[in-house]
Amino acid sequence: MTLTDELVIWTHEKKCLKAVDSLVKNGFGAVYCATPHDAFDCIIQEAADAASVGFGGSMSIVGLGVESRLREQGKEILNHANPALSRAEKMDIMRRQLTCDLFLSGTNALTLSGELVNIDATGNRVAAMFFGPSKVIVVAGRNKLVDGSAHDAVQRVKNWATPPNAKRLNFKTPCASTGFCSDCNSPDRLCRVTTIIDRKPRFTNVIVLVVNADLGF
Ligand code: SF4
Repeated sequence: MTLTDELVIWTHEKKCLKAVDSLVKNGFGAVYCATPHDAFDCIIQEAADAASVGFGGSMSIVGLGVESRLREQGKEILNHANPALSRAEKMDIMRRQLTCDLFLSGTNALTLSGELVNIDATGNRVAAMFFGPSKVIVVAGRNKLVDGSAHDAVQRVKNWATPPNAKRLNFKTPCASTGFCSDCNSPDRLCRVTTIIDRKPRFTNVIVLVVNADLGF
């Protein structure tokens, strides 16, 4: 590893640790993970007593590769991402995610003051992040950190997360072709539900894993 690499990791570590400290002050569980492998281990450990595990459609979670391990362990996997599912089957799985034992999600942004900021089209993912599941684990790669306000985080989502998501899902939005948000009124508009979770929800155990690696977008 070069000196530059070391310094980049060190700088990100300081930011991640600041976010962890803020999250703890805001009542969340929060863990610093030096590597994606550490995050993988943490999820498998936290899932030990879960019979059902819901997946919110996060590319960060996909990147960790936990689903196959949990499936091998005999967990009920609630993942609506399979393109072979009908609309009715997807809706059923999304509703069941709301009462699963463990819900796994990424976050579109995490401010250094410990706020989780997300934008959804359907709202199923954000709903499950704050009420319903017994436990929620949110994985935040270092690329999701925002040194600014929740408003700044929304701008981060609309300019860095939604455009590649719209392109990935083949949605016909302006950002899917330009890479920039134009606050569209497209029928395919993804930005329909915006949430700021600024303190631990009263009845939900939310644990945020802040990972010193780029995960998702
Ligand atoms: S408002 Fe429209 S253009 Fe802007 S990020 Fe959302 S979907 Fe893209």
